[in-house]
Amino acid sequence: MDKEYIKKLAEDTRFIPGIYNYCDRWCERCPLTSRCMNFALSEEKFGDPQTHDIDNEAFWQKLHEVFQSTLEMLKETAQEIGIDIDSLDDKDDSDDENNIDNITENHQCCRAAKAYYQMVKSWFDSADDLFTEKADELGLQAQLELLSCEPKAEALELKDAVDIIRWYQFFIYIKLKRAVSGTLRETIEEDFKDSNGSAKVALIAIDRSIAAWSQLRNTLTERDDDILDILVHLDRLRRKTELTFPSARAFIRPGFD
Ligand code: SF4
Repeated sequence: MDKEYIKKLAEDTRFIPGIYNYCDRWCERCPLTSRCMNFALSEEKFGDPQTHDIDNEAFWQKLHEVFQSTLEMLKETAQEIGIDIDSLDDKDDSDDENNIDNITENHQCCRAAKAYYQMVKSWFDSADDLFTEKADELGLQAQLELLSCEPKAEALELKDAVDIIRWYQFFIYIKLKRAVSGTLRETIEEDFKDSNGSAKVALIAIDRSIAAWSQLRNTLTERDDDILDILVHLDRLRRKTELTFPSARAFIRPGFD
């Protein structure tokens, strides 16, 4: 890519400066590709960026509605079956103040995020047959053209939910580690101000993952109990992250907020 082209792009007022600093790097699903210089510089092509952005905006809005109703469901179900959704294993975080990596790794948000990605791995490892059965069932419904079923829509929703969970599986842990280590660095380096932005994108990823698991739960009713366990774990992580980073939700991400 030649230098002149990059210089011309950098001067283009369509692009929002720094938009890619607090995004989730999921360009395929991004509602702001047409405002992102990083995207323009990449090799990726998703057709007309503006149409692509409008579709993605609608996609995330719908998922946000699912997230809201999932939180209500979780609260009610937890009360019914006596789960304390506020509790997370409460180990002292201040053992070794000289070692940022060690403190970060042992912070309860990071440990819970790590436990989450391991839970996701175990769950998907154990769900291979279930997805095969579901694919067969939806294929049969499509062949029979049953009026009461919408196999195509159900298959798409299932795929979207899996894509979302997989995209954020490790992302949450990485961003929370950055947020926690950022808080520690901010006490040493005056100019370092990154923790709330990282915590915010982690929270968005948690919200979206909660909504996606809820969609999976609606479709794969056979795995209701273990999906509920994952949802409770994620909701506890969400609450703990909000407590640890009380200003994170209010952080303004360039372009997105
Ligand atoms: S802002 Fe959007 S298009 Fe740009 S890098 Fe992030 S996800 Fe990709």
